[in-house]
Amino acid sequence: MSDRVEALVVGAGVSGLASAYALQKAGIATRVVEAAPRPGGVIQSVKRDGYLVECGPQSFSGNGSTAALCRDLGIEDERVLADPKAPRYILIGGKLQNVPMGPGLLASPFMSGGTRTAILRDIFGTSQSPEPDESVAGFVRRKFSETLLDRLVGPFVSGIYAGDPEKLSLRAAFPILYEAEKAAGSVARGIFKVLKQRKAANGTQPEARLEKATLQAFREGNETLIRAIAARLGERLTCGTEVSRIEAMDCSLEPKAARFRASLRGPRGEETVETERLILAVPAETAGRLLEPLDLGFAAQFGAIAYSGVAVVSLGYRRSDIGNSLAGFGFLVPRSSGLSLLGTVWNSSLFPGRAPEGQALLTSFVGGATNPGAIGKTPETLAQLVHREMTPLLDLRKEPVFTSVTIWERAIPQYNLGHTARIAAIETLRAGFPGLYFSANYLNGPAIATCVQHAMKVADEVRVSFAN
Ligand SMILES: Cc1cc2nc3c(=O)[nH]c(=O)nc-3n(C[C@H](O)[C@H](O)[C@H](O)COP(=O)(O)OP(=O)(O)OC[C@H]3O[C@@H](n4cnc5c(N)ncnc54)[C@H](O)[C@@H]3O)c2cc1C
Repeated sequence: MSDRVEALVVGAGVSGLASAYALQKAGIATRVVEAAPRPGGVIQSVKRDGYLVECGPQSFSGNGSTAALCRDLGIEDERVLADPKAPRYILIGGKLQNVPMGPGLLASPFMSGGTRTAILRDIFGTSQSPEPDESVAGFVRRKFSETLLDRLVGPFVSGIYAGDPEKLSLRAAFPILYEAEKAAGSVARGIFKVLKQRKAANGTQPEARLEKATLQAFREGNETLIRAIAARLGERLTCGTEVSRIEAMDCSLEPKAARFRASLRGPRGEETVETERLILAVPAETAGRLLEPLDLGFAAQFGAIAYSGVAVVSLGYRRSDIGNSLAGFGFLVPRSSGLSLLGTVWNSSLFPGRAPEGQALLTSFVGGATNPGAIGKTPETLAQLVHREMTPLLDLRKEPVFTSVTIWERAIPQYNLGHTARIAAIETLRAGFPGLYFSANYLNGPAIATCVQHAMKVADEVRVSFAN
């Protein structure tokens, strides 16, 4: 069987779905193919025993693109916003310590005198970032202090990338810091300059400003977004069907001819789809494997993008069995603590409906780039480990009454040293295949909001390419 579409999106995680939805809205005949039996990729919400568990991302920060998408899908009011003032804690000296956000951080007791001096040096002095690339750890040591790296930056990096600050590239993972120092010789002074430049380039997005950094989720789970897009795509989305091969076709004689042929393997057997525009929204390694027949360089570049593995361990407790007030967002754990826990989100403190009345849901992350072996443990061992490590920190008095463990062997792409050059090399290869696009979390940041923002940009590029 063979099909012909104007655009084929491979992969129905949030990146692929958002791109496909925008393409469909632009009137482009689009089909989306997803290997798993359900769409959503790592976004999975499960309801069991009165708990609402997020097996992947727990929440997301708002930006203009996600706000617009939710509004367009009619699910704006299904979002719940976390209290922006909810305290965040870091484990320091065996205790959970409140980390003040903003200028209060400077005065906080866990900032060493050396770090404060370094911050003042940054504000009033001038420095230059080394070329071509510097690790996040190298940057923090050069500009600030080892203590800041251990106590604040390391845990923060775990929270976003489950990454290793010694390997993550500052330029790729936190471009604003790199650009700030480059623009003004100072991170503090440069940030304002870069933000101003970005605002001028992107225009004013009042909703983006309003929702900036406001943590949110959907009342019925983050899969609400996935279900809403999937419903709009209808039969254009095919799940349980894997793209197994991609070929580039000779379209030199006919500009409107199909440029790619994809081989699909699913319950309906083998099928081919011919398309003018191919949008790959799959993990990097899969993109490399699928594009290998087009150019061996794709496999080499994509294959070099490492992923961290993460176990997501959600435990439910009777509220009366927890001594800690759980007033806040949750806590992060510096690697120097020797614990396996990377951090814990206090779901039921942040959003309503996460646990039955009188109970609390806590979701912890184990593994990451600094402890890859941890995810090899059984779900039972991981749940016991998390309970044991949390017990003294939260004054847990009894065993959990609810357990859910999800192991993601390749959870989050690592924007490691050389990432910027790798993406540039991929772009050069892509230029040899007009009609080929990438919409994925290894490009513009792994957060849901940046995936959606990038997906919209890609869809717009495709739309413009049809108009020309
Ligand atoms: C544990 C965890 C916690 C996270 N926490 C947060 C958070 O708190 N906040 C936040 O903003 N972000 C968070 N993220 C990051 C964010 O969720 C992801 O980066 C984002 O959802 C990735 O979406 P994606 O569509 O790019 O990729 P994916 O979700 O990986 O989707 C790729 C899709 O491609 C499909 N596919 C693969 N091969 C093929 C093939 N050959 N044919 C067809 N389909 C194929 C896959 O089955 C998958 O559905 C977290 C991620 C994880 C794993």
